[in-house]
Amino acid sequence: MRKKGIVIAIDGPAGAGKSTTAGLVAKTLGYVYLDTGAMYRAVGLAALQTAVPLDDGDAMSALAKGLLLDLIMVEGAQQTRLNGQDVSPFLRTPEVSLAASNVAVHQGVRDVLVTKQQAIGREGGIVLEGRDTGTAIFPDAELKIFLVADVEERARRRQLEMKGRGECMGLDLLVAQIRERDERDAMTQRRFGPWPPSDAVLVDTTGLSVSEQVLQVVGLARTRGA
Ligand code: C5P
Repeated sequence: MRKKGIVIAIDGPAGAGKSTTAGLVAKTLGYVYLDTGAMYRAVGLAALQTAVPLDDGDAMSALAKGLLLDLIMVEGAQQTRLNGQDVSPFLRTPEVSLAASNVAVHQGVRDVLVTKQQAIGREGGIVLEGRDTGTAIFPDAELKIFLVADVEERARRRQLEMKGRGECMGLDLLVAQIRERDERDAMTQRRFGPWPPSDAVLVDTTGLSVSEQVLQVVGLARTRGA
């Protein structure tokens, strides 16, 4: 029996609204929110700061093992600290994204991070976001959610998000990019087992507002003991 509540694992393809939904579900339930991708990004950043090649699995695993990685909530947002320094603003650059997916292929790195993620969520009361949250990290999570949305809707959301940053890209190009990423993700996902996990609840967010998505997931969580 977990002390602080249930474990909720949230995943889904790019642009389905995972981060927003996971963060708000955690806030609504008074749970901890854990963005597992930020941890791979932090290891990727640390790797870029050293001269060690990203494809050297032993060196990357040793690097991950030696890092002091803290995730703390500051005003409702997750702050990622690497060796005591807040590195959150540096985690979303294209270089760090690429480094993160390169370090994530090493089993030694995954073992270090999964152990940390399990320790953070052991007592429950947590919403984890990421691809192996309902398999390698918490195969016994009380609720596994797989968010989906049709590709056009995901492209429109991405376009809006970009507009907010003053960037502009055509819808057709965005649709093509998302399709390509879906295919790549589906290929890498196979290493983690079935995707989505067979016991995940599929929530289609096409046409739903953010608050409707959150309400649906919170409703499901309530039926599982949250
Ligand atoms: O989710 P996000 O895009 O922030 O994750 C960054 C990278 O970290 C992903 O591209 C993936 O390679 C890796 N990752 C992972 N397992 C997770 C979360 C992220 O392998 N649970």
